[in-house]
Amino acid sequence: MRSILRSVGFITIATTLATVSATPSPLHLDLAARYEENIFPRLPTFSKREAAAEPQLSEEDERVLRRALERRDFTFIDQDQVLNEYDYIIAGGGLAGLVLASRLSEDSSRRVLVLEAGLSGDAVKDRVDAPAGAYYESIVGTDYDWKHNTEKQPMLNNRGIYWPRGKILGGSTAMNAMYLVRPSQIDVDSWQSLLESAQDIDVSGSASRWSWNNLFAAMKKSENFTAPEAEPWEIGGRFPYDAANHGSGGPMSLSYPQVMFSIVGNWTSALATAGISTLQNPNGGVTMGGFISPSSINPTNRTRSYSRPAYIDSLPPRSNLHILPEATVTKIGFTDKLRSSTNEIIAHSVEFAKDSASTRYVVGVNREVILAGGPLGSPKILMHSGVGPTDVLQQIGLDVVYELPGVGQHLQDHLTAGVAWESRVETAGDVRASNSDFSKSSEFLSFINDAVAFVNASLLFNGNDAVYGTEIANMLANGTTTVPSTSPEVIEGYKAVYNLTVQNLWPGSAQIEMLMSVISPGSISIQSALQHPYSRGRVYINSTNPFDPIVIDPQYFSHPADRTIMRQGVKLVRLVGAALGDRVGTETTPGPDVQTDDQIDAWLTNSGANTQYHPASACAMLPRKWGGVVDSDLKVYGLANVRVVDSSVYPFEFAAHLASATYGLAEIGSGIVKESTFEVPSGAKVDEKELGRQGKNEAVGRGVSRVVVGGVVAAVLALLA
Ligand SMILES: Cc1cc2nc3c(=O)[nH]c(=O)nc-3n(C[C@H](O)[C@H](O)[C@H](O)COP(=O)(O)OP(=O)(O)OC[C@H]3O[C@@H](n4cnc5c(N)ncnc54)[C@H](O)[C@@H]3O)c2cc1C
Repeated sequence: MRSILRSVGFITIATTLATVSATPSPLHLDLAARYEENIFPRLPTFSKREAAAEPQLSEEDERVLRRALERRDFTFIDQDQVLNEYDYIIAGGGLAGLVLASRLSEDSSRRVLVLEAGLSGDAVKDRVDAPAGAYYESIVGTDYDWKHNTEKQPMLNNRGIYWPRGKILGGSTAMNAMYLVRPSQIDVDSWQSLLESAQDIDVSGSASRWSWNNLFAAMKKSENFTAPEAEPWEIGGRFPYDAANHGSGGPMSLSYPQVMFSIVGNWTSALATAGISTLQNPNGGVTMGGFISPSSINPTNRTRSYSRPAYIDSLPPRSNLHILPEATVTKIGFTDKLRSSTNEIIAHSVEFAKDSASTRYVVGVNREVILAGGPLGSPKILMHSGVGPTDVLQQIGLDVVYELPGVGQHLQDHLTAGVAWESRVETAGDVRASNSDFSKSSEFLSFINDAVAFVNASLLFNGNDAVYGTEIANMLANGTTTVPSTSPEVIEGYKAVYNLTVQNLWPGSAQIEMLMSVISPGSISIQSALQHPYSRGRVYINSTNPFDPIVIDPQYFSHPADRTIMRQGVKLVRLVGAALGDRVGTETTPGPDVQTDDQIDAWLTNSGANTQYHPASACAMLPRKWGGVVDSDLKVYGLANVRVVDSSVYPFEFAAHLASATYGLAEIGSGIVKESTFEVPSGAKVDEKELGRQGKNEAVGRGVSRVVVGGVVAAVLALLA
């Protein structure tokens, strides 16, 4: 009962923005008490059977009870229950945002608010939960997707590329393909060495946080690994795995689908024929080779283990944690006072609204604002708050609060292209198309693709990798002219990452990932996905309305090496396809007519190349002199108490899928935030009059009446102790 009393006290004593009382009903109290007594220890175990064992519960009670449990009413709040202020406000309830929410609210004396633009996802729970739902009942393209499109890409025959991103509690982990593939030790240690090589106190001081050893431990902390079941493991060719490379007892479940297809058992032998060895201990720091990847599946109920069930639904009620869906952060509010020790601007509030036509609300922050809006959401919030490149902000008439030319820059993405063949063996797509009872069973619905391989430049260029590596090194000057920024700092950052990529990652890391897919009826495909792109793009805003879409220009293939590497990947994929022998028939995509380099290039340009859904780096962790946005403590330059903790901070793309690294990043980020002692000084707090409802659309374009350009602070600003 202890924390129930705290709940009640917290909700009723604390001032709410509106007058609506959030006093829990007796049913809620009873529910929460029994929850705490471990009658319902974990949400997934609560079932009709258990409710039936409670004779006093009517059908209606049971419905309310279930809904209360599922919505976690003590955590998920309505707009009118938002308090005046919180210690931490997290913008974005996606992967990183919910890790932060869970970890920061471990300290019951700290109040935490998560503002998530998307819906809770309760209405699509079944679609999200079933792993195979990622293909057959995907939320991509629905209201749970931001439905972004890139600008037309000149080097892709003017195609705009569709970029889905999760707009839902859990973010993109609620719609992703669930591969759990870590970056290699070389990639992560190169991140650390890049920061150290800058010889800049902002990033070299804490560079060791971003070492392989530290990130590996943090990634493992997020996990609870379960070995594959005997039957699918047998069908999958008794593939190697190493439990020691995974965590145990962490929030996110990690395992393998309970149904596999025979072609998966042929994966590593086909790779071997094409010269690609089998990786014996995947996810332990070496990625080169072929393997069957674990997936973020909870094997006890065969469901997707994404950030919401892993980090939030599994918690007992926490009265100090509030999560508000359908709340888009429109901007950060700043005081006109500076932190005296550092001359940094202090954030004192966050503004949010349900949609463009709805009332704006302002909520105060005592300690930190943490941006976890993902690779597009976080740079967007910064820009709408007046923090970003001056040309972008002034073009639309937004006051520049702090000039930071790197916001939105350094954008990178993995491009991928799939070669497909007719299949002569059964695929998941065949089962699905059969509409049989099995196709509807939870066993089948636990299916997810998992056959992958990472290959190096030597294999791609038939041993001539050093020659092509030198060619790429010589293309730096040309590459620099394609950087979509006139900022000398951003251009210097491009050069630094480029040189690191050529020197460390070209010889040591994977250049192409292959992924085999069996989701379509009668068809098997293998993708060739570029891992370390040399092209750079940007995101920016062209409107003061934060509900207008962000402009995305990844500048795909603006560096010619990217297309050449992908083309070599396509050739290697074809060798693997050939090694699958009579299990596959005629090649259907791109087809036998596409053979020469020019033909493959044309196919990639006109239709073949598409996103692998891994945009990153638009709030890069780099020194300011390289167009960085955050320092090695994830703190935004020039701002005393704003951090970015999500996949937008990686200074370069890893040869990996990004979820595992981002769970690790968010675990480390939570620790950094907890260590910080900063509190918004009383003289810098948001004025009570500014709290609460701020009127419909009044806030659009309403800048903070202060200009700080190039780090030079207007002399009128007061300094705070
Ligand atoms: C279709 C798809 C397939 C993928 N497959 C894989 C895979 O198989 N394996 C893998 O490792 N990775 C995969 N990824 C990538 C992986 O899911 C992401 O890298 C990861 O989720 C990034 O975490 P994040 O916290 O940075 O962002 P997200 O998880 O995207 O979270 C950002 C959250 O912020 C919210 N938000 C944004 N702006 C605002 C705002 N202004 N106010 C309030 N909230 C806001 C968003 O709605 C979202 O909930 C895939 C991604 C996609 C889209």
